[in-house]
This record gives sequence, C-alpha cells and structure tokens, in this order.
Amino acid sequence: MAQVYKFGGASVKNAEGVRNVEKIVRMVEGDLMVVVSAMGKTTNALERVVEALAAGQEEKALQQWVDIIDFHVAIMKELGLQPGVDIRLQGEIPYDPAKSFDENYDQIVSLGEIMSTQIVAVYLLKQGLPVEWWNMPKLLRTDETWREARVDNETSASLIRSGWNRRQRPRIVVAQGFIGGTADGRRTTLGREGSDYTAALLGNYLDAESVTIWKDVPGILNADPRIEPNTVLIPSLRYQDAVELSYSGAQVIHPKTIRPLENKQIPLFVKPFGDPTAEGSRIAEDGVGPIDVPVYIWRKNQILITMRAKDFAFALEESLSDIFEIINRHRLKVSLIQSSAVTISVCVDNTRFVPEAIAELQKHFNVTYNENLSLLTIRGTTPEILEKAKDGKTIMLSQTTRRTARLVVVEQA
Ligand code: ASP
Ligand code: MG
Repeated sequence: MAQVYKFGGASVKNAEGVRNVEKIVRMVEGDLMVVVSAMGKTTNALERVVEALAAGQEEKALQQWVDIIDFHVAIMKELGLQPGVDIRLQGEIPYDPAKSFDENYDQIVSLGEIMSTQIVAVYLLKQGLPVEWWNMPKLLRTDETWREARVDNETSASLIRSGWNRRQRPRIVVAQGFIGGTADGRRTTLGREGSDYTAALLGNYLDAESVTIWKDVPGILNADPRIEPNTVLIPSLRYQDAVELSYSGAQVIHPKTIRPLENKQIPLFVKPFGDPTAEGSRIAEDGVGPIDVPVYIWRKNQILITMRAKDFAFALEESLSDIFEIINRHRLKVSLIQSSAVTISVCVDNTRFVPEAIAELQKHFNVTYNENLSLLTIRGTTPEILEKAKDGKTIMLSQTTRRTARLVVVEQA
C-alpha cells in the first residue's frame, strides 16, 4: 500500500527545504506519492503577474515574472541543477487577452506547482531515488470552473490508478497539488491552498495506507501560535472534529481534505517537517474526541451582511430560500447565520464574489453590511474563557451554545 506525503509552500521555500524533502522521503521504503505546492510565496507572486497583465501593465508583469524565474533558478543552482539542461522553465507568460481573467489566472498561476515539482523530482532523481514526475493537468480531470475547478472523481481515479500501475521502476511519484486540467488540456486550479485536497484525493484513489501533511507547525494545535503564545498539540482527533475545525477557519488543513479520506477510512497525519520523527497529530475515525482543550480559531476577512425585508407583509421565513439561493449562486462561503423576526444576517468570507451578490440581494431586501471583521470560534468554552476572549475586542455579534462561542470581531486597524 502506498503512502501520500504532501509538502506545502513553506517546506519547499528554498534549497534547504528541498534537501529536507529528500531526507523525509528517504525514511520511507515502500511506494510513495509526493504532492508538492508552489515554492514559498510563488502563488501570490504569480497572482500579481496576472493582475498586472489584466491591468495592461506589461512591464510590471514582466518584471514580476523575471523575479519568479530568478527565484527558481537560484534554488536550482544551489541544488546543483542546471537550468535549461536539467529543467526547462516556461519561457513566455501564457497570457491570452482574448480569454477571461479567471482562465488566464489558471494558466499562469498553475505554473508555480509545475516548477516546484520539476525541481523536486529532478533533484531527488539526481540523488539516486527512483522518481517519476507527473503532470496533474493530464491526470486530475476537472470542469472549467476556473480558480475553483470541480474534480471529476471517476475520470481522475481511473487515470491516476492506471498511471500508478503503469510505473516501471519508480516507487516514488512527484505530483503537483492544487492543479488539474480540463478534458481539452487546459490547466485549472482548485482554489487557494488546495494542495491538501489533492493529497486527500490521491490517497482516496490509490487506497493509500495514510496521508501525511508536512507543515511548519508541530501538528494540530489548539490555537494559531502566531496569535496565542501558549498553544498545545492535539495528538489525536476524529474526522468530524477536524472537519469542524477546518470549516471554522483553522488554517492547518484545507476544509475539503477530510471527506475523501473519511470515505476510505484513511488516517491523516499532520507532522512538522523540521522534526520528521515527531508524532504530530493523527486524524482518524478512532481518534480521541471530543477535543478536551479549548480551541481558538480565527477566520479573517469576513463581511457581515444584514438583510431586512422591504415589505413587512412578506414573512422572512419565505425569503430564506431566496437568500441562500443567491448566496450559493455567487459562491459565497457562509461562516455564520443569525436571524431575528425581521432581519437575517450572514457572515461570509469577503471574496471577490461579494459585491455582485450584494447587488442582487439589494433588489429584494434592504441590505446593510460591515467589512474588516474576523470570526473567532472558541470550542470547549466556559464563561470565564469567553469573558477573557472578549476583553479588549469590539464585538459586532456573538453566538453561544453550550460549548461553543462565536464572536464577530472588528479587526484592529
Ligand atoms: N500553492 C497554492 C496556494 O498557495 C496551493 C497550496 O499551497 O496549497 O494557494
Ligand atoms: Mg501555498
């Protein structure tokens, strides 16, 4: 049975990171699927290239592009790889002004993962490891929902299984996270931070023994160590608790990661790439639950939208399905809902889809909204913990059930 290892951008942000990948990969004797994200902050940098091109700022785009290429070339050289000989990097920016912004985005932004996997695969190969490089746009089949492509599981599973069975000597495959492709061969992306999801899908298709996400944290912690000074590691948890944590906004795993693993009862490990023999966290059906320490989860960049019926003869309950139909169609991600007799409020991620959704809601309701908010979810709260958490914060809305508190907090400027 195979294992799946996923390395995020932070674990391959420089040559030392790539050497560390080698060290970790060498610890495995059997078949291994290695999923890699773009190096460091490459995805953000590529986004800026697309934005500059769309704004007609060609020179700026080119400069950004050159910086990205230089960054990869420097890493290659440090690893003893020869640019142009060992790896041929994309020469021109694949931009087509006749195509939509989102389609161009996918053709360009996907190159981050193409480059990182080429470097990792060729480096491992040169170190004598039996490696095969996979081009996921040909294997992970998606629809044409640019930037948020939906995976065709049936086709993808069959393409990936046959690729896996057709391997000659290599027991290690290096593949891109986050990207796939349409039936006619155009690259797509699965939504930011989507590499964990790719790893989970591959684990599912290959009936893997386990999936491991290598991160720059010791495992799943009860709070973000960048915000809370005292965090504790949660060594074992159940799928259901992990799903709840990630949907509340815990950054450690992508929300879509759990389902494909749960379906096949494949355990997920989250481990520190800086300390590969550490236990980390294990997520599985038989994990320990409920989590027995208070957990703090921040979800940033929220907008609170409140709708009030224009006509009071019109009961709010009857509008609920209309509201959610609009919200769904505009791909808004709802993080909290609250209703009163005459209003309904939703807290959603403040994405590029929000303005159009608001415009449509305004046709039917009186709409007000507040931006620059964060949602703090505290699981396993007590009245004392809640009091302490509220201290010094401006709170727009709060919801508490027996064990969970959710606060919509104004972000400090
Ligand atoms: N490189 C992509 C991103 O930064 C995917 C990922 O890291 O999971 O969003
Ligand atoms: Mg990334």
